[in-house]
Amino acid sequence: MPLFSTSDAREAESASSTAELLHSINDIRSRLDALRSQGRGPVALVPTMGSFHEGHLSLMRAARAAADLVVVSIFVNPIQFGPAEDYDVYPRDFESDVAQAATAGVDLIFAPAATDMYPAGHETMVKPGATADGLCGQSRPDHFTGVATVVAKLFNILQPDQAYFGQKDAQQVAVIRRMTIDLDFAVDIRVGPVIREPDGLAMSSRNTFLSAEEREQATVLYRALDHARERVAAGETGVSGLRRRMRKEIAANYLVELEYVRIMDPLSMEPVASVSTPVVAAVAAKVGNVRLIDNMLLSSGDKA
Ligand code: AMP
Repeated sequence: MPLFSTSDAREAESASSTAELLHSINDIRSRLDALRSQGRGPVALVPTMGSFHEGHLSLMRAARAAADLVVVSIFVNPIQFGPAEDYDVYPRDFESDVAQAATAGVDLIFAPAATDMYPAGHETMVKPGATADGLCGQSRPDHFTGVATVVAKLFNILQPDQAYFGQKDAQQVAVIRRMTIDLDFAVDIRVGPVIREPDGLAMSSRNTFLSAEEREQATVLYRALDHARERVAAGETGVSGLRRRMRKEIAANYLVELEYVRIMDPLSMEPVASVSTPVVAAVAAKVGNVRLIDNMLLSSGDKA
């Protein structure tokens, strides 16, 4: 299914003076080959599903500051959505994305069609191991296979020197880091911090689906994480107590249905029994029909 009509794409293209838009795998490959042969590089990739907010833009700016060529991919990857999930209604705003990417200094936008990424007969998948099993992998069993497969394809197509991901999706970062090592991709994985709304809610393309009341109650995910951060900063080390208080705080919001609260080692994502800092606390919840995730680093040295 095309993500946008050709006329939309042409209009968006002419609105952007600096970001070059390429749709086909052959075209982006040839363009990057030509640029590299002129001595351009390093190349930084920011993989996205579009519908940009400040979280995406912060990664583009970090890439802009570190690399000569910044490529953003915009692709709502069908194979990372479960059958009952929101692929069909996932927010898409291609014209606005192209304009925002140009403002962030992006050089090239790669926006393939699903039929180009997964033509008839496509069957090979990248299946992550234990990093994909718990947390979001529990309720979304094929999600990280879809993510690892599309990122591996993007790495092969674009051959970036660096790739930028958000800490907002902490388990995705762990899966991609592992895959990069295991499959010998020569890509430097760089991670940007969670970008939040002024009231603390982690920015997400899915936040637009929240009703006003859901939007208000959703902020409890941030508050519960931040209270845990404060308690750890004050010296609390018991993981079960921290999790219990987070669950209780979240449960006081009747529109928020908690899926998990975990406190883990930030690199391995293995649960920890007590807090010998730093650790990462991660939450997932359904707010109305919208599944939200968030996480925060907890450290006893952090008195902020
Ligand atoms: P998405 O379009 O949701 O697949 O996200 C593309 C990239 O942006 C991923 O690496 C996400 O982790 C990152 N991202 C999404 N939301 C945020 C946020 N609030 N803060 C930082 N990074 C984010």
